[in-house]
Parts: sequence; structure tokens; C-alpha cells
Amino acid sequence: MTPEDFRKHGREVVDWIADYMEQVDQYPVLSRVEPGDIRAQLPDSPPLQGEAFDQILEDVNRVILPGITHWQSPNFFGYFPANTSPPSILGELLAAGLGVQGMLWTTSPACTELEQHVLDWLIEMLDLPATFHSSGDGGGVIQDTASSATLCALLAACYREQSDNPRDTRRLGIDSWQVAYTSDQAHSSVEKAMMIAGIGTDRLRVIDSDENWSMRPDLLKQQMDIDRSHGLKPTFVCATVGTTSSGAVDPLPAIGAICRDHGAWLHVDAAMAGTAAICPEFREMHDGLELADSYAFNPHKWMFVNFDCDCFYVADRRPLLRALSVLPDYLRNRASQSGEVVDFRDWHIPLGRRFRALKLWFVIRSFGVQELQQKIRSHVEWAGRFADWVSADDDFELVAPRSLNLVCFRHKGGDDMNRKLLDALNDSGDLFLTHTQLDDRLTLRLSIAQTSTTLEHVERAWAAIRGTATELA
Ligand SMILES: *Cc1c(COP(=O)(O)O)cnc(C)c1O
Repeated sequence: MTPEDFRKHGREVVDWIADYMEQVDQYPVLSRVEPGDIRAQLPDSPPLQGEAFDQILEDVNRVILPGITHWQSPNFFGYFPANTSPPSILGELLAAGLGVQGMLWTTSPACTELEQHVLDWLIEMLDLPATFHSSGDGGGVIQDTASSATLCALLAACYREQSDNPRDTRRLGIDSWQVAYTSDQAHSSVEKAMMIAGIGTDRLRVIDSDENWSMRPDLLKQQMDIDRSHGLKPTFVCATVGTTSSGAVDPLPAIGAICRDHGAWLHVDAAMAGTAAICPEFREMHDGLELADSYAFNPHKWMFVNFDCDCFYVADRRPLLRALSVLPDYLRNRASQSGEVVDFRDWHIPLGRRFRALKLWFVIRSFGVQELQQKIRSHVEWAGRFADWVSADDDFELVAPRSLNLVCFRHKGGDDMNRKLLDALNDSGDLFLTHTQLDDRLTLRLSIAQTSTTLEHVERAWAAIRGTATELA
């Protein structure tokens, strides 16, 4: 493909995406294909000769599109959002066009410095603690996902030099007496991080949550005291701001104080909810964050930046570097040795890295802080209205307090009824909802955060839920 062909087909693809944005509300939200349907339409072997681009794009429509679940549909209310937006897509395109590999400052200075700068902007936008700012001992970096951020935080915690533990962790590995803590509502990535780090899930203490699904600090403290009395070392705590099931917020001030007492690292996972802190009125959920050693949230969930983009902050970068930096001779360079630059390869697991800051920069500049605030505010307001409709209905109930843009609710007719309701709604193609388990009962979740969702879509979703429930009853 020559640059001239690229110009032509590039325009076609941008047109295709623009058409998709205009039409995405027409598609059944959940893909209707059966397992194997997509592969059955693909040739067994790759083509020996290049094919015309028109043909390839045609197959996108014919083969691929039916196998898409439309995350960008305004009627997508499932799991968590993964919203995107036109400026984000263009930033992504430009990143691909530049094809930069930003492992070291010297391999593309703009890739590192824009990232540092935009992550500092976000500290101001979300009013995060100043300790995370790149001008001090800490700093922010873009990770692929919140799962990777949790793993990096866990490793940093285990590698942090402690006066009571002068052991060389880099050479000898993680101590067998180090233990970690999280709540029974935490994301599964905490358990996975324990497995990947080689610590094992036996050394993850799962602390019970209270009636609002927030971690109980009294039980955390009790468990740490017990562990200490057995000669174990409380090393890492992962608290959640906005749990995946119900959007619960763990009490950071109490948890942070306990972590300080025990010298344990506090990581705060705000993957979904963090974005809400753009609005001053929602910042209360971050109370106590100044006690955290690390923090992560995903602009790729609720901030109109396409996957993948997780912002990970540490208050002190030294333990992270101790855990993750190795310097082979072929990467030595003058800039790194000068000590004046940051090499982000030392801040995450892969060596290589994409220029992800571009799409984040495009989104923040193109929307502006005020429009971002206004969109987030609307999502939260509509979730509040939806929760009111549920509360006012004799057949439905809220299962957890409404949290920002997430409503957990159920039909009072029991698990079977809720399962049938969920299947019927999702089979209809008109909207997509997912479920969770709270109080050992099936619970429906409605998460409002798609870029093109309006109040009308939310009203239609409620009408469909009500109507379908009546038909099934
Ligand atoms: C979505 C979510 C995760 C996982 O996010 P990834 O970026 O896909 O790893 C972790 N924690 C919370 C609280 C989440 O909402």
C-alpha cells in the first residue's frame, strides 16, 4: 500500500468509523453469533498474494461485524464502561502512524515527556495528592490495565527496603513471611497478582466487607495483628474505590492509618470510579488517598479514552524501580546515565511501550475539563434517576446504595425471575445488562457511561426492564 493508497483507504476507514458511530444504536448490543461462527467464515490458510483493501473492508462488514458486541452502543449498560470518543480514536491512529517505541526517554523524548505532563495534569484534574506529582519522589505512568498496576504495586511493596528487613529481595526473591490483604469485594486481579508474583493466594487475606460492601478496617487490623503474632509481615493492602460488583468504596482514612502502623503498602484501585473525581462534588470517595503509596484509575473505562490506558501513580518511585529495573548493556545511553530523564521501561513489566499519552492528551484538550465534568455529572444524575424509579416500583428493589453511575437492583421475584429477565432483555438486543452476586442472590447491574448515552436511552432501558418483567410474571 503506497502512501497515496493509504490516503484513500485511510479516509474510507475513518468514514467507516464515523458511520459506525452514527449507526451503532441500531445493532443488537450483544453479538448473536454461536461459538465457531466467525472462524467458519475465514479461509483455512492465509493468502499468498496480497488482496485488495476494498475486499478486506467488505469482510469486516460481512464476517467481523456480526461477531461484535457493541460496547460503544448507547444501550450498553453491562460490566463496566469501556468508552471511547473521536479525539481518542484519532490520537490512537496517530500513535500507530508514528509507530514509536517509547521504552527509554531517548527512544522518543516526546513519548515520555508528554506522558509525564498529562499524568501531572490529571493530578490537578482529579485533585490527587501532590505526592504523586513527577516533580517529587513519586510520579505517574500509563499501564495497559488496572490489573498490571495492581501487580506492579504488589511487587513494589514486596521490594520496598525496610529497616526491619535488610534482605536483598532482587537476588533472593519475595520473603515467605510477607502477606497481603484485600476485601471480599476486591477485583479478581488482586488474587491474580498474588499468583503471578509467586507469593500464592494462601498469603492473601480476604477481609470481610460491611453491609455496604466496604472493607471492614477493624477486621483488617485484627488480621494484621494475628499475622504479626505469627511472625508474618503485613506488606501490601489493596483497597478499592468503586468495587466491580456494587461500586462500594473502602474507608481509606482508617485503612491508611492501619497500613502506616504496620508499615504496609497501600494501593488504591479506583479503575472505574476514579474518573468521577474530575467533578469536585464526587471527590469525597478519595478522602484518605494521601495515605496511599500507589493509586490507579482507568481513563479507558469512563474518561472517553479507548482501551488501553490505565494511569498508575506512586508516592515514591524508588521501590517500583527496585522491583522492575534491570539494565542490559545494549540499553545504556547518555541520557539515562545523566540521571536527568525518566525511562518508563522501569515502571512496568514489558520493555516496550506504545505512545498512549497521545490519545489521553487529545481527549483532555478536545473535550476540555468542563465538558468532561458535565458528561460525568450527567451519567451520575441519570443513574440517580434510575435508582429512584427502581425504589418507587413495587416489583423491584435496590440491592446496594447507588454508587455514582452504577445501580445494583433486582426484581423481587427471586433468582430465577431475575435470570429470565436478564436473558430476555439481552436476547432482545435492545440493551445489554450484566449481573453480579450480592447477599448470595442474583443482582442486576446497570452501568451508565457510554459516550453517546442520553437520558432517553436510560428511560427506554427502564421501560424495557419493566415491560419485560410484566410479560414474564
Ligand atoms: C475494571 C476493574 C479492574 C480491571 O481492570 P483492567 O484494566 O481490565 O485490568 C480492576 N479493578 C476494578 C475496581 C475495576 O473496576
